[in-house]
Amino acid sequence: MAIFALIDANSFYASCEIAFQPGLVNRPVVVLSNNDGCIVAANAHAKALNRYLTKPLGSGGYRAAQPTSIMFQPYFKVERLLKAHKTKVFSSNYELYADMSQRLHTLIGQFAPKQEIYSIDESFLDLTGFEKHNLTDYGQQIRQTILRGLGLPVAVGIGHSKTLAKLANHLAKKGDFSGVLDLTVLSEPAINLLLKNVAIGDVWGIGKQLRQQLQAVGIHTALDLKLADPHKLSKRFSVNILRSHLELNHQACLQLDEVDEPKQQILRSRSFGQAISERHDLRQALVNFASRAAEKLRAQGSVCQAVTVFCTTNPFKPEQGAYRNSCSLRLALATDDTRLIAEQVKIGVDKLWREDFLYHKAGVILSELSQKSQQQNDLFAPALNEKSAQLMAVMDQINQKMGKHSLHLASQDHANQRWAMRQNHHSPRYTTNWQELLTVS
Ligand SMILES: [Mg+2]
Repeated sequence: MAIFALIDANSFYASCEIAFQPGLVNRPVVVLSNNDGCIVAANAHAKALNRYLTKPLGSGGYRAAQPTSIMFQPYFKVERLLKAHKTKVFSSNYELYADMSQRLHTLIGQFAPKQEIYSIDESFLDLTGFEKHNLTDYGQQIRQTILRGLGLPVAVGIGHSKTLAKLANHLAKKGDFSGVLDLTVLSEPAINLLLKNVAIGDVWGIGKQLRQQLQAVGIHTALDLKLADPHKLSKRFSVNILRSHLELNHQACLQLDEVDEPKQQILRSRSFGQAISERHDLRQALVNFASRAAEKLRAQGSVCQAVTVFCTTNPFKPEQGAYRNSCSLRLALATDDTRLIAEQVKIGVDKLWREDFLYHKAGVILSELSQKSQQQNDLFAPALNEKSAQLMAVMDQINQKMGKHSLHLASQDHANQRWAMRQNHHSPRYTTNWQELLTVS
């Protein structure tokens, strides 16, 4: 039988910050969205503050006030509460999170030959054939490795399907299991007891709409879905629900990589072949990264609402100066248009730029992604949107056919990119570059 594990970091952004300031481990920690708008991550101590928040009474006033969550609250609304409990508040540092994410997935990948990077802080592993191991011990080994290597706490869920691994992970996070839950060694009644306590909305792939539809036919928990009549399910619902039902019954319908969900953020960055000392070069490099990130954005059918740019000097060459900074900009309307994204990048570069440093690495992160198909139309500029979509489609087609960068923004300036490659031993481009023409004296 197939065996899958899901490894997921706890409160990832907050944990990344704590990893570098271990003194915060027993304090509430929250991370704010771009421009410090609302709370996007909170560690367990901060989530414990939920008890001080209550939703206002419904209009009838019959229902008791419901506790609500600190997550996604606008910062200004909870600022006093956070201060009163000595909460450490961070602005988001996407460069750090992206880097930690890469390291996290690399460490996880050492534990099985097949890995699917599912999100910024989640990986599935295929542990089929590993049943000779004690998988709970193996899960603990994974946890310890990541805690030692990166200072990040993770939970490990193991089951005969991806849905069960995901569910086991959800339970492992809640305590009682020391961070690892292996469902493959539990008896059926023991598993059912656990599934009974998982709300249907917490099952993988069940969004708000499906949750309501399932609840309407009396399916309120993961156990209800597991025990439901498959014929009735397939009559009323899409094939996805039947698949969830089978997966809860230990039948793996999904293999690794099969669920190709759009990425939640897109990062393009690199170290420069030659350190950058001119603002123009940094702008050009970042517009190039932005252009590639936007291509990826369009390929997955997403639009982004936030653009982050970052740059840093070389930490191994302190004589070149020590400076690192990032800057996030928010677009009025989510977009996938390279030109609009590049505009934000240029503004970002002007904000970040400091003279007298040699820049070693920079990058662009597109975040706050949503599906373009679900995008609200811009009432005031429908024609522009349509034109933009057509232009971007043509640009992508030509670049696919004729090779990368055949068609690009003027500011990418492809003939003249000094930062692009390490070419210390390269002879001058006598024939293709005006600056490097052979001179005769
Ligand atoms: Mg997580």
